[in-house]
Amino acid sequence: MSFDSLGLSPHLLATIENAGYTQPTPIQSQAIPPIIKGADVLGAAQTGTGKTAAFVLPILERLGTGHQKKPRVLVLAPTRELAAQVAESVATYAGDTKLKHTVVFGGVGYQPQISAFKRGVDIVVATPGRLIDHLDEGRLDLSDLTTLVLDEADRMLDMGFIHDIKRVLKYLPKSRQTLLFSATFSKEIRKLAGSLLTDPVEIDV
Ligand code: AMP
Repeated sequence: MSFDSLGLSPHLLATIENAGYTQPTPIQSQAIPPIIKGADVLGAAQTGTGKTAAFVLPILERLGTGHQKKPRVLVLAPTRELAAQVAESVATYAGDTKLKHTVVFGGVGYQPQISAFKRGVDIVVATPGRLIDHLDEGRLDLSDLTTLVLDEADRMLDMGFIHDIKRVLKYLPKSRQTLLFSATFSKEIRKLAGSLLTDPVEIDV
């Protein structure tokens, strides 16, 4: 299996080659085609399986290379560390495109985050708490969102973020693509997936 057959554009294939990846990991070969087509995905994946690229690459494919002011993609992550890591992958894979992104988490100043929103970003990577602050204060408009990703959803539930996630959802368009990744599938995760995903493609690697 090579990256060539997954539906990615030449600029992304070049980025992948530059990263030194010679073949897609199992989650990448299974997740990339349906995500490009716009399907919802329920993915069972541990860290280290290449799951970040499995959603970031097809999302970049869908966004194209041009910048728009209002965010089209939101990635929710349980911790600052994971949010920063996802943002770093976005930076790497978005390479020379005009796409802009920002990372939002608590424990740091508000101003740089607010400035990034004012400049305009295509992709927001965030932990739920600080994001809610911005949304409640009207500093960030997610009404043009096309794709929501919940990364490490099981950890988000373990950390008590379910109410924050529900509050974030109120600010998002109902019609959108939703991708949910989790290492484990408890009853709570199944319930969340059932309420958020429409006819999801299920991937278990
Ligand atoms: P993740 O599971 O997203 O945390 O990724 C784990 C690591 O695998 C990261 O350091 C990626 O740079 C690397 N990686 C992702 N996809 C591939 C691939 N297709 N081939 C080799 N390494 C990869």
